[in-house]
Amino acid sequence: MRQLTCIDAGKLEWREVPEPRISGDGEALVRPLAVARCDIDRLLGAGLFPLRGPFAVGHECVGEITALGDAVRGLAIGQRVVVSFQVSCGRCTRCRAGHSAVCEAMPTLSDYGMQPLSGTEYGGMLSDLIRVPYAEAMLQPIAPQLEPVALASVSDNVPDGYRAVAPHLAARPGSEVLIVNHGLASIPLYAVQAAVGLGATAVDFASDDEESLAMAERLGARPVASDFAARPPRTYPIVVDAGVTPAGLAYAIRATEPEGICQSVSFHPGPTTPVPLGRMYTLGVRLHVGRCHAAALLPEVVALIERGALRPQAVTTQVVGWEDAPRAWLEPGVKLVVQRA
Ligand SMILES: [Zn+2]
Ligand SMILES: [Zn+2]
Repeated sequence: MRQLTCIDAGKLEWREVPEPRISGDGEALVRPLAVARCDIDRLLGAGLFPLRGPFAVGHECVGEITALGDAVRGLAIGQRVVVSFQVSCGRCTRCRAGHSAVCEAMPTLSDYGMQPLSGTEYGGMLSDLIRVPYAEAMLQPIAPQLEPVALASVSDNVPDGYRAVAPHLAARPGSEVLIVNHGLASIPLYAVQAAVGLGATAVDFASDDEESLAMAERLGARPVASDFAARPPRTYPIVVDAGVTPAGLAYAIRATEPEGICQSVSFHPGPTTPVPLGRMYTLGVRLHVGRCHAAALLPEVVALIERGALRPQAVTTQVVGWEDAPRAWLEPGVKLVVQRA
């Protein structure tokens, strides 16, 4: 079968690879129909993280189930499903607690399309088939009337934006929210959608990127242009740190009110990142850092989309055909989706 493969920094090509096969009775094979580009994918493809040889690309998709192991219940061949980008079992203590990103049955960072980070190849979604080791835990069926292209990013970035605000708005209903975008693309915009949809009284969006500010405003946020050098104009009970720079993180923490929460969805790549612990201690600012628990979040996120409370397609900026993937994948843009003809 064909698989989009990153063969070197900035170089993608279709490669012929062996078809995956079912090797356990809880597994599934899925044929990706629409694949979205995660905010980290351009960084991976550009070689920002050291490459360990060619790797399969893509970890967000809606696909069609083509084969199921004998023990799988509640799923059917031909069904359209969102696939969790993280491989997780659904049965261990951590998965049952909702912490599927750190499933005890799998090594850390067991993700599709991210071999440069983990060193292990789980396959990529820009291919004709992917193997899903724990079908019941990792696949979430979608209503037949929903378009695969609209939900392709629900594997990862959509629930990432959702979880950035959902638990905090549940604990403090109606709070005002600030989202600080310093270098990510779609995740902070999905966070805007979620905050608006979950009843935040106001959503402010700070960024140094004009396209991002304009999109956030269209989604219902108030734009706050900032280069993150100046102090934030005010403080908020809930702040989302979404980016890649220490200056952006410092701004987000500074914008968090006393006893407020700063939720970081950032991947800060260095071995250490400066954090103003003295200020946070004095004011009781809580900083929560961690990955999105994709498989655990899929049922509630898909339910919100099915009743129209979240519209991930509003963040999509480009849709291209399958054959255009090698050319389009590394181009700039907020949200690219690749659609099979
Ligand atoms: Zn991702
Ligand atoms: Zn598990």
